[in-house]
Amino acid sequence: MSAESPFAVPDDDPFGVHNLPYGVFRTAAQPRPRIGVRFGDRVLDAGAAAWAVGAPAEVVELLAAPLLNPLLAAGRPAWTRVRAALTEWMTAEEHRAAVGPLLVPLAEVALELPFEVADYVDFYASEHHAANVGRIFRPGAEPLTPNWKHLPIGYHGRAGTVVVSGSPVVRPCGQRKAAGEAAPSYGPSLRLDVEAELGFVVGGASERGSRVAMAAADDHVFGVCLLNDWSARDVQAWEYVPLGPFLGKSFATSVSPWVVPLDALSHARTAPPARDTPLLPYLDDSDVRPPCGLDIAMELRLNGHTLSRPPFAAMYWTYAQMLAHLTVNGASLRPGDLFASGTVSGPEPDGVGALIELTRGGERPVELPDGTRRAFLADGDEVVIAATAPGPAGVRIGLGEVAGRIEPARP
Ligand code: MN
Repeated sequence: MSAESPFAVPDDDPFGVHNLPYGVFRTAAQPRPRIGVRFGDRVLDAGAAAWAVGAPAEVVELLAAPLLNPLLAAGRPAWTRVRAALTEWMTAEEHRAAVGPLLVPLAEVALELPFEVADYVDFYASEHHAANVGRIFRPGAEPLTPNWKHLPIGYHGRAGTVVVSGSPVVRPCGQRKAAGEAAPSYGPSLRLDVEAELGFVVGGASERGSRVAMAAADDHVFGVCLLNDWSARDVQAWEYVPLGPFLGKSFATSVSPWVVPLDALSHARTAPPARDTPLLPYLDDSDVRPPCGLDIAMELRLNGHTLSRPPFAAMYWTYAQMLAHLTVNGASLRPGDLFASGTVSGPEPDGVGALIELTRGGERPVELPDGTRRAFLADGDEVVIAATAPGPAGVRIGLGEVAGRIEPARP
């Protein structure tokens, strides 16, 4: 096998055969959006490959779609069959002639939002983030609200403004009222922030009136993406009592282009942190095996400079608890639902996932290598969130990146 062979991807490549994340791409030559699977620095035209190798009709049909929703709808047994097929195409000598020409260099593709987002929910699952923000938003009060350790707090966000990595983010305008000001004013947010999060992509429907128990979570979580919950802190602080986040967050939520299958993260599973408050039975995961904590190492960068390294393993609530809580009232799931973890912040000061924590509410700006300082984001700033997770035999699984650049507010 020559070094130029598209199959010459080492097993320890972050996008090697142990990962095989799904996305949607187009090329200049073939502008029709279609499902791609990343392999090394190339993207497999998955539908064309399924056809070329004579895969079963089910696999051809699911991979020939212009987005991931039919695959999400097909459910866990189909996800297993499709992943097994992809693994075989990438590894078996007999498929090389058919599959090789369908591996497109990453540099030649444009990546799109990989699925149509049905409903979007954002949780608040980091104890460290909730406590840090509680101290800033409610000084003098208990950092955690009385409900925090009894249920994973969340809110419904805006599915229609979930955008793929690389989409520009226009600075939002809104009402804001700083402490000491007599009345609110309207204008561009002066405290634009990021939230480094993990997004969970839901597949397989559930019936309205039914619940998804923690033990069934893996039947409904297809995979994960990286997510940036852009947040206008001044708008948020003025509007959020008593009903929670609204316009301070709904202007844009960015996701990474690659959805890493939950199956690729089996070596990242870890026990969640010890909890000091007894949980109601539907959230008590002491007997759930394997555990649903995830040891994912995240990195938050501003203009190429690493600001922090949030550890997902420190999250108090797991995805299984979030999904069980999301459906405990009988709310149904739809393929394409997206729920996010909330800002990932660990116990250390250099492990927090938002500027508001890093700069203590804007009071201690961070200095960048170019000598400029930031309390919050400036126009032109580019934010990147990247992550890796343990795979088999010391391999690191790449989750890729979610990037976004701030454009000035529009008059
Ligand atoms: Mn958030």
